[in-house]
Amino acid sequence: MMHFHHIGHRLLASVGSVVILGIVIITVTYAMRQEKASLHQNEAALALVADSVTEGLAALMEGGHSKVAPDFAERLNKVPNILDYRIIRVDGTQAFIDNRTFEQVRQRNESFEFIPRSAEPVQVVAAADPNLERLRSTGQRVFHYHMKPGGERLVTVFSPIRNEEACHKCHGRDAPLRGALSFTVSMKEVDDNVVRTWQFSLLVIAAALLGSVSLIYWFAQRTVVTHLRSFLGAMEAVTAGDNSLRLAATRRDEIGDMGRAFNHMNENLLETWQRLGEERNKLNTVIHSASTGIVVTDAAQRIVLVNRAAELILERSASEITDRGFLGLFDDADWMQARLGNAAAQSAAGLRDWKGKTLSVQASTIRNSEGGVIGSAALIRDITEEKRMEAKLEQQAITDTLTGIFNRRHFNEVLTTEYKRWRRYGQPFSVMMIDVDHFKKFNDTHGHDCGDHVLAAIGRVLLEISAPAQIPCRYGGEEMIVVMPGVVEDGGMELAETVRSRISQLVIDGLQVTVSIGVAGLPGHAADDGDALVKLADDALYTAKEGGRNQVCRAAPG
Ligand code: GH3
Ligand code: MG
Ligand code: MG
Repeated sequence: MMHFHHIGHRLLASVGSVVILGIVIITVTYAMRQEKASLHQNEAALALVADSVTEGLAALMEGGHSKVAPDFAERLNKVPNILDYRIIRVDGTQAFIDNRTFEQVRQRNESFEFIPRSAEPVQVVAAADPNLERLRSTGQRVFHYHMKPGGERLVTVFSPIRNEEACHKCHGRDAPLRGALSFTVSMKEVDDNVVRTWQFSLLVIAAALLGSVSLIYWFAQRTVVTHLRSFLGAMEAVTAGDNSLRLAATRRDEIGDMGRAFNHMNENLLETWQRLGEERNKLNTVIHSASTGIVVTDAAQRIVLVNRAAELILERSASEITDRGFLGLFDDADWMQARLGNAAAQSAAGLRDWKGKTLSVQASTIRNSEGGVIGSAALIRDITEEKRMEAKLEQQAITDTLTGIFNRRHFNEVLTTEYKRWRRYGQPFSVMMIDVDHFKKFNDTHGHDCGDHVLAAIGRVLLEISAPAQIPCRYGGEEMIVVMPGVVEDGGMELAETVRSRISQLVIDGLQVTVSIGVAGLPGHAADDGDALVKLADDALYTAKEGGRNQVCRAAPG
């Protein structure tokens, strides 16, 4: 089985074989006809020779010169290029050399006289020779072709001598033939001619073959192959990313259409590439100028993109990040794997402490429209400042601005919590209620601003003394309350005394104030809720005021 890898060769093979077959058939037919015509011509010439000799012999015999017939027959052999020229009888014996015919004529005509010949009959051709047999049965001329031992072809002609009207007087009318001329001629000249015809035909075939094959090949190259090659080259250039090539598109056939279609496609591709490039540049700008760190991988989890923010946040170079791999982003593969784990994990950002910062990390699997995984992405935000601001706001929400201690809202929460703890776990806690003495008058005397300074200074003292276990709160106006978890009333009394003493020593803007304090605590006092305990402390405070101010009073056991 032959394989053609080139369209030119294929065209050549298909068209060429048809053309070749045609040429071979025409030329061989022509050569065969030529050969047949040569043979026919040769046989016609030989027939003419035989006819003229037969006519000559007839003239001799009819003129009564039968005596010279042997001499006539003898002379025929002198004709050049004709071998073995004889006159024979139909039984194959040679005529005119014996007495057989003389005796037959005498039997018919008593008066016929002849000089007897001395020779015996000579059998020239076997009586049963098939050629002679054919001559006898058909009466027609027979051409017998045979080979000389040397390889030369010969033709032996058996030409009939008919028993004509003129012969009947002497030889009777019974036999249709009187005899035959037999002679042999070389076919060399004719055969040489035929060989030359064949040689010429082969030459013609070869020349026509060469000519037609070259013509087909040239035509195929010119019309198809060259164009296909340049098309192929252009396609390869496109594959390699070069869209600048244009094909010749002037022809009006399919090749021209192909060129135009290719150019059109190439222009569209170029435009699409340019648009895609612009989009990519835009995206790149966005990605690289983003404050969020972005790390993207391909389907095989190899990192293919690290933006500048990611480098800054992780404090590692892009190549270092790439080397450590996606799961190694925070040197904790299990944690990263958990972030990618499932849809729920991917939708929530994970918090990660990293080099003194707080990071928010959201990892997700990127899928194509068919749902196949084409990569992963991690969005990393540095939320340290955010967290700090959040904590600050939280702190502000529960802090009193003037005094710096907790506000009333926070106090309510703390009270509820501590009371619950007491209820649930029996954990003791105490509260002290503080009220500035004669503060109305103080304000009136020194001004409201001065009063504020005093409140702020008291706040500082409370923070100092109570930190960190106790929770000082501004209860309202110039009243403050300190919640003391885990402290029984005795401890509360002690702490209250310290507070009172410290405040009494304060000198603010050259002025001094005193406070009265009421203390109540669990388990020492019976209270159904936190407010009841506060009420008890407030009652004790009232007692302190009554008792002359600047003192600490314990609530009466309820
Ligand atoms: P007492 O010894 O009986 O407590 O006498 P008092 O004048 O302090 O009486 P009371 O506690 O009822 O007075 C509250 C006063 O505290 C009223 C107001 O002038 C003052 N005050 C309340 N809140 C503030 C504040 O935020 N700043 C200042 N400067 N004064 C305040
Ligand atoms: Mg008061
Ligand atoms: Mg007061």
